[in-house]
Amino acid sequence: MNQLHNLQSLKAFNTFNIECTAEQFLSFDQLETLQNICADTALKSRISLILGGGSNILFTKPKIAGLTLHNCLKGIEKVAEDEESIYIKAFAGEVWHDFVEHCIHQNWAGIENLALIPGCIGASPMQNIGAYGVEIKDVFFELEALHIATNEIHRFKLNDCQFGYRESVFKRRYKGEYIILSVTYRLLKNAAIKTSYGAIQQELDSMQVGAVGIREVADAVIRIRRSKLPNPKELGNAGSFFKNPSIPIQQAEDLLKTYPSMPQYPSTEANAKKVAAGWLIEQCGLKGHREAHCGVHHLQALVLVNYGEARGEEVFQLSQLIIDSVFNKFGILLEREVNIL
Ligand SMILES: Cc1cc2nc3c(=O)[nH]c(=O)nc-3n(C[C@H](O)[C@H](O)[C@H](O)COP(=O)(O)OP(=O)(O)OC[C@H]3O[C@@H](n4cnc5c(N)ncnc54)[C@H](O)[C@@H]3O)c2cc1C
Repeated sequence: MNQLHNLQSLKAFNTFNIECTAEQFLSFDQLETLQNICADTALKSRISLILGGGSNILFTKPKIAGLTLHNCLKGIEKVAEDEESIYIKAFAGEVWHDFVEHCIHQNWAGIENLALIPGCIGASPMQNIGAYGVEIKDVFFELEALHIATNEIHRFKLNDCQFGYRESVFKRRYKGEYIILSVTYRLLKNAAIKTSYGAIQQELDSMQVGAVGIREVADAVIRIRRSKLPNPKELGNAGSFFKNPSIPIQQAEDLLKTYPSMPQYPSTEANAKKVAAGWLIEQCGLKGHREAHCGVHHLQALVLVNYGEARGEEVFQLSQLIIDSVFNKFGILLEREVNIL
């Protein structure tokens, strides 16, 4: 920890379980270590990757040039409280699901629907993680991030982050400029539980629980996720590989004429409908499709998996085959959600 290593394998640092070597690698759990790096002009110019849990990354090259920084800053603090809310600051290297469990244990509500998402706190605002009707933006209060160029700590409020569907300012305008240090969430003392999304209510019914609180909602989400998604410890993957696309309303209506069963949902974009990328892939006959060492998961067409020895390039090529197939059949261009390196 806090020591520079040369030629570090990143296989254990990405949930796709892809072999890749970092030219230089440093895990840090001290802010001072990071600030010392950013005070050294030559060293900071070598920073090429900030790594959390590696659960939203696909390495496509055998080597990552420059310096990979593995963020292991730890700590969870209650920073403020009012009648309705608790403000909890968590440091970037805390494991997201452990944080969710911690909050549920304290009876702090708001993130129970986001249980079991892999990865760390620091990446949670990067793509505004979301699941089962909740996104980080719904509970986000502020974050602190180190500006690499100036070595200054900057504070971002909700409006500064430009959160969207799997989007934030850190993936776009400020890409590669900041290292997120901590995130403060505003959680609620009295839960307003959300059970209408997906199969949560159905799962709660089958669990036959009496009163439903945040613990039960999280348990239902955990059960659903375990039944649908491959565990990266058993089968390398990075969750949903593609975003659900938004398409113009006219195109959505035209497609419904040919494909009356096509699932369509309201979109946050103007004059658009959201369609399920998994359904589109399945209609192309690609659910369960396998190419040598990688494939499309047999239960969830949005998830690409590494059967053991896949190279990142192979997974990338498979994703391109999917993009081309969906485009040829539906005229819809899928966008990758996973960060390609
Ligand atoms: C089985 C499975 C299920 C998943 N389900 C969901 C889901 O339901 N919803 C969802 O939104 N996502 C989901 N994901 C994707 C993933 O878990 C999230 O995107 C998660 O937030 C990634 O966290 P990480 O720490 O692993 O980030 P990494 O993969 O390590 O990094 C992701 C990106 O963030 C950057 N980054 C990481 N930490 C920092 C930091 N401290 N400062 C600056 N940049 C940083 C990296 O450079 C990279 O660009 C799933 C993944 C898997 C494997």
